[in-house]
Amino acid sequence: MYQDPFFFNHVNRDDPIQISRFATLSNLRSVKDRKPDKDGYLVGPAIDLEEMLLLPHAMMPLTLAEDPNAMDTLRDAYQNSETLFACFSRQDFNHLTETAEPEKRYLEIGLEVAVGSLISLDNDRESVLLQARNRVKIEDIWQEDGLLMMRCLPVKSRQRKSNSLTALKRAVVNEFERYASLVEFINDDVVEFVRSVEDPGDLADMVLSTLDLSEADRLAFLIETDGAARLEASLRNLKHEVRLQELEAEIQNRVQSSLDQNQRENYLREQLTTLQRELNDGKPIDPEYQELSEALAKISLPQEARETVNKELDRLANTPPFSPENALISAYLHWVAELPWDKETADNLDINHAREILEKNHFGLQKAKDRILEYLAVRSLKPKRNRQPILCFVGPPGTGKTSLGKSIADALERNFVRVSLGGVHDEAEIRGHRRTYIGALPGRILQTMRKAKSVNPVFMLDEIDKLNADFQGDPAAALLEVLDPEQNYAFSDHYLEVAYDLSKVLFITTANTVSSIPPALLDRMELIEFPGYILEEKIAIANQFLIPKQMEENSLDGEPILFQEEALKALVEGYTYEAGVRNLEREIGSVLRKIARMKSEGKTLPAEISPELVEELLGPAEFFPAVAEQNDEIGMATAIAWTENGGEIMPVEVLVMEGKGNLQMTGQIGEIMQESAQAALSYLKSKQEAFQIPADFFEDMDIHIHVPEGSIPKDGPSAGITLATALTSAVLAVPVRHDVAMTGEITLRGRVLPVGGVREKVLAANRSGIRTVLLPRKNEKDLREVPPQVLKKLQIVLVEHMDEVLAAALVDKPISRKPRAASSRAKKKKSASDQQDAPQASETSR
Ligand code: ADP
Repeated sequence: MYQDPFFFNHVNRDDPIQISRFATLSNLRSVKDRKPDKDGYLVGPAIDLEEMLLLPHAMMPLTLAEDPNAMDTLRDAYQNSETLFACFSRQDFNHLTETAEPEKRYLEIGLEVAVGSLISLDNDRESVLLQARNRVKIEDIWQEDGLLMMRCLPVKSRQRKSNSLTALKRAVVNEFERYASLVEFINDDVVEFVRSVEDPGDLADMVLSTLDLSEADRLAFLIETDGAARLEASLRNLKHEVRLQELEAEIQNRVQSSLDQNQRENYLREQLTTLQRELNDGKPIDPEYQELSEALAKISLPQEARETVNKELDRLANTPPFSPENALISAYLHWVAELPWDKETADNLDINHAREILEKNHFGLQKAKDRILEYLAVRSLKPKRNRQPILCFVGPPGTGKTSLGKSIADALERNFVRVSLGGVHDEAEIRGHRRTYIGALPGRILQTMRKAKSVNPVFMLDEIDKLNADFQGDPAAALLEVLDPEQNYAFSDHYLEVAYDLSKVLFITTANTVSSIPPALLDRMELIEFPGYILEEKIAIANQFLIPKQMEENSLDGEPILFQEEALKALVEGYTYEAGVRNLEREIGSVLRKIARMKSEGKTLPAEISPELVEELLGPAEFFPAVAEQNDEIGMATAIAWTENGGEIMPVEVLVMEGKGNLQMTGQIGEIMQESAQAALSYLKSKQEAFQIPADFFEDMDIHIHVPEGSIPKDGPSAGITLATALTSAVLAVPVRHDVAMTGEITLRGRVLPVGGVREKVLAANRSGIRTVLLPRKNEKDLREVPPQVLKKLQIVLVEHMDEVLAAALVDKPISRKPRAASSRAKKKKSASDQQDAPQASETSR
């Protein structure tokens, strides 16, 4: 009796047709295998399944039509409950077979099959269910009365038992169990049955019949007669299939769980929205809403802002939480809630208190301190008066602008905030972006107000000279609105949308130079200059403020460490190059850091810091002060220029050579300086007769003006008299005094006009070893700002006309010594640098 639960396995129990077949299938149990004849051969009727490969234990429904002979064979077998044989013929099997009818070739391996059911579908079609049983090796195939007959030998896999085979079987069974647990169509009966199978080949066949194999694999297994080899292959296939099934399950799981999560969320969200709608009149349940509405209720907002806030709160309640819209609205409301609207600090308007604080924190800066005290005095007399000019602190970096601003806040007992406007070129940076923009935020003014936490902070707007206007709108215009007391009580920020009152803020602006402050802004501000410090002032600031501050920062307070004056001088002159003291503070910090390290390493600390120790700690000096020329030169005069870092001396060179009357200018010459040079030349030409310059001189000679590049570009009209002096010197061949420096604008008629930055310029001249400084007479008043100890060292000559300039600067009377001037220069002693600077000059003498 043949028992094989695989029979039932492929039946879909929900399908009535298959169930009826299932009933008939049980008949197969009684189909007996054929008995071999005395020679061991099996003989019987056969059908040609052509290319429908079947593995033992597998079942296959087969529809037959137009082949009456094959139908007869099947019908007989079915009715007699007998097995029959199946063979496979196909063109591409040729290489696998020797069983040959010349015109038709069969696979060498065939099958013994049982016929399960036979159903007539219609007149000439019948459906039959085949079940493959054993492999047979085909010996012969022939026709008999029109029916196909086969003689064959049963394929027996006789395997000897071995440990490795047992292990292999176990592995296959285990893997099969796993597989069965992953797929639905293998039931427990099948698993049970598989466990009981002894023969390795049978086991392989059973397992393989449940797998979805490729055509090629099926062929390979069909013709493989070695059971152990099949079993091994079945294990490989099983594992592969299990892996696939697991992956599939995993993917399914993932998809399913993400679907579930989504559904859950949607469901909850919907519920929440519904609840919120229901509760809108009462109390909504969103904690965000709750928090915001409570926070906003506590603030006293202006009417307009209150209305907007209420509207937005309503919108917040009506948008689902976690939606982008909801996030935007709540971000906005947070902004409103965090801005100061009604918190105001009480001013301390005690002038004496203010003076104390300003003096305590700052050395010098008398003008600035006085102005600030006046400002506070006016306020204390009329506290409600807001129309005060905006202060603008102008000066080089590190001159104490920020720290003085902070001291004002301290004196008034107000909060202090600052924002840098350097590089701002877009109006939106001041005023924010509209909320319709993604990632919109308020502008810098309101962002800084949020930090201020009160409506009346001291608000420092740094670097207003570095604002740029471009196509994005003019930030200066927005700033005007900020600073204008007529408008700033209702400052409009694009993001906030409602007016914000800035009128209680005390604005202070800072700039390095006045020239690039937008004029409309400049109009509204009162300038307070921070001019930069001289050496003595820097040393005093270092001793009184910077050193104690840095000692504390480097945990050295209380240590008896003293900076020698010479050491501070070395730091100022050799390691920094600035008008302020920012780098000086940094260098002092570096020195003290190194000493702090010595302390932590347990070394003995130096009691005094000498210039030598400074060099030892910081390395060799980096800067060498610009020094005046050593010799009186023809065609070389010294100007003093103003830069953002303070003053600087600047040599101007002129060479005259044979040519065609051209004027050439090289080096660092800006547009305004070029115009000055033209004016200087015109002045000289107008003096041709007085200076006894030959008639055709300017037609026959070329003039070359050169201003060596400095580290900082300089331009402006103040080099005018220097250009004229150098030119005159070159043309007349009269040398210029090397220890004279000058500044002043020149007119065509030789008048000298006043210039700016006198204090810095005089200080620079002093630093550089100049003895005599020529200044426009109109600048006399500015000398009050120059420290007296500097004035004592210098001879200041106030001039109104070029004649006076030449009289003071040239070593001789301004009368042509040698008309073709350049030649005399050759006879003069020349410095090495001169020769390098003008190698192209062809000097001629006639
Ligand atoms: P600015 O804002 O002009 O660039 P800062 O206010 O930042 O300069 O000053 C740089 C450093 O120099 C600060 O530590 C400041 O305290 C110090 N400083 C500048 N001027 C003085 C001064 N007159 N008295 C005391 N310290 C000063």
